[in-house]
Amino acid sequence: MPGEVLIFDMDGVLVDVTASYRETIRRTVQYFTDREVSHEFIQDLKNAGGWNNDWALSHKIIRDYGVEVDYDTVVTQFQTFFFGDGKDGLIFQERWIAKPGLLERLGARYRLAIFTGRLRDEAQVTLDRFAKTLPFDPVVGTDDVVHGKPAPEGLLKISDITGGARLRYVGDTVDDARSARAAGVPFIGIASPDNPRRERLVTLLEAENAVAVLNDINDLESVL
Ligand SMILES: [Mg+2]
Repeated sequence: MPGEVLIFDMDGVLVDVTASYRETIRRTVQYFTDREVSHEFIQDLKNAGGWNNDWALSHKIIRDYGVEVDYDTVVTQFQTFFFGDGKDGLIFQERWIAKPGLLERLGARYRLAIFTGRLRDEAQVTLDRFAKTLPFDPVVGTDDVVHGKPAPEGLLKISDITGGARLRYVGDTVDDARSARAAGVPFIGIASPDNPRRERLVTLLEAENAVAVLNDINDLESVL
């Protein structure tokens, strides 16, 4: 229906970031502490809520391990692992999740938008790589809001931009669900079968009023 907007979170929803952002957290922690953290450990922190920002999450883990280092130093190292020399960074390990045609079909029925915890330029790099022809508009990044998720600000901003159209938000974390709830926007959860804490995540998303929890966005048309 024209006038309806389908808003996507990016990481874990449009893009599989297990080998990119999640691995960058692991390498950054190891760089400063010599400690190995598991993907399960990272997911437990994500499930606890409040750790949507991967820089802040990395900094927290490093400090929890007793290493005092400036936030900015952590961010710089994180970005170095993530982008590398522009050709070999972990960002290139991302995988686009939508099967060919899915987003084109959805785009014919809905206006497509993005609300992500990434910087808008970092989101754009990935969109340019995988989704050049898809009209995501608007794309709201973490630098477009004062209060990131779980605050509702990004979704309310999209509501303003799209003239009060009916919105739905598709996300994969507790903070995504809380942001939607606070904005009064129906939420569709994604819990990948590969997620090391899937059961717990499903329970948490349902407790935050998810209207459905799917394995991935390729199942989305079954609940719209
Ligand atoms: Mg996400």
